[in-house]
Amino acid sequence: MSEQLLGSCGPGRLYVRTLGCQMNEYDSLQVLRQFAALGYTPVEDIARADVIFLNTCSVRGKAEQKVHSFLGSLRRLKQANPNLKIIAGGCVAQQSGKKLLDRFDHLDMVVGTSAVNRIGKLFQNLLDSGTRGAFVHEEASFAGFDFELKTAHGSITAPLTIMRGCDNHCAYCIVPSVRGPEKSRRPGEILEEIGLLERSGVKEVLLLGQNVNSYGRGLEETISFADLLRRIVSETGLSRIRFTTSHPKDLTEALMLCFAELGPLCKFLHLPVQAGSDRVLARMNRGYTAEAYLEKVARLRRTCPEIALSSDVIVGFPGETEQDFRKTMELIEEVRFDNLFSFCYSDRPNTRASGFADKVDPETASARLFELQGRQAEITLGKNLAEVGSIREVLVEGPSKASNGQMSGRTSQNKIVNFEAPVSSTGKILEVRIDFAYSHSLGGEAISAGGEKGR
Ligand code: SF4
Repeated sequence: MSEQLLGSCGPGRLYVRTLGCQMNEYDSLQVLRQFAALGYTPVEDIARADVIFLNTCSVRGKAEQKVHSFLGSLRRLKQANPNLKIIAGGCVAQQSGKKLLDRFDHLDMVVGTSAVNRIGKLFQNLLDSGTRGAFVHEEASFAGFDFELKTAHGSITAPLTIMRGCDNHCAYCIVPSVRGPEKSRRPGEILEEIGLLERSGVKEVLLLGQNVNSYGRGLEETISFADLLRRIVSETGLSRIRFTTSHPKDLTEALMLCFAELGPLCKFLHLPVQAGSDRVLARMNRGYTAEAYLEKVARLRRTCPEIALSSDVIVGFPGETEQDFRKTMELIEEVRFDNLFSFCYSDRPNTRASGFADKVDPETASARLFELQGRQAEITLGKNLAEVGSIREVLVEGPSKASNGQMSGRTSQNKIVNFEAPVSSTGKILEVRIDFAYSHSLGGEAISAGGEKGR
């Protein structure tokens, strides 16, 4: 967000650094909004900041190390400017609480994911009292979030959190302990926020939740995620809708049908499989077998043949044998995902898997990851090459970061396309002929202007 969008006068400048997932990005937008209400303007140069907010992520071990080293590096800035206020938010903040304050004595405030909705008030208290504090023991809530932020945001696509927390207990995952139990937002509130986003020029929303497929549990009105998608399509004018993340065990027939029947719903699903061995899946507590996963993928492809799929895989989970790993390789060979996010297992504190004794040695895990990523790169490139010659509808997001003078956008299948088009096409859906395929993107030429709606 630029300084101009929120005005340039006020009591100070706020620098925000976001690590980790899209849910964190959404929370960072809320933080920007609450500070804007206090008169703070965003700044991109950290050296000019009066307040630094670090939104942290602890889902992967390396991310947590990054947080600690970033916080450590801020000591120098605080020494140069003792009035500088430094705040840590996000998952590491939620999990470590006061321990972060003890470890970094130049840190002023720790605001967990459960308290981020009232960060403005907490910051005001900090200024008034001068007392450092950690705020983490609060029930996760949507109250206090200010949705009008997006009216100043000015982008074509926007994230929108529809639920928080998770009721699954995957053995390796820290999310349930830092984000708490699952809680869905009321549909009326979601539709209201979409209305605000649309009025600010947003054409595409990305619905966010740890497991959107279980959306609706615990709400007064009976509504499933598929129902919510249908309501969004019938009650808004969005060109496109995406969502993430989906737990395979909760992927219903009703949701599969949405892909076939709802025009604005992008033909793309991120469906994390994590492993191809039933023994490993059971130890991970994922609640499905490889066969059940493959059946769902087959049914989905029958229902919506043009759907693209991505997934997550963890290699080197405790106890993973060579045979288990081969099953993962067989699964990726069978599914042929369009894209795959793969990682070596790493212990996260207070998770069941961290107590498993039979850890895979790091060299073996790295070698397996190398093999998996190498094969997936070939599959992804093959899938991209198969796009050459096709004509795809592309939602133009703006000038390309990669190619000089070109515009960039995404197909419904979530593939990035760079092509020649005027800047004024931003926000429109254009028909683009795909001429080139690369590892991570496509290249082409706009052949006709589509409408603004993907219906
Ligand atoms: S579904 Fe599993 S991996 Fe995903 S957030 Fe919940 S516990 Fe974590």
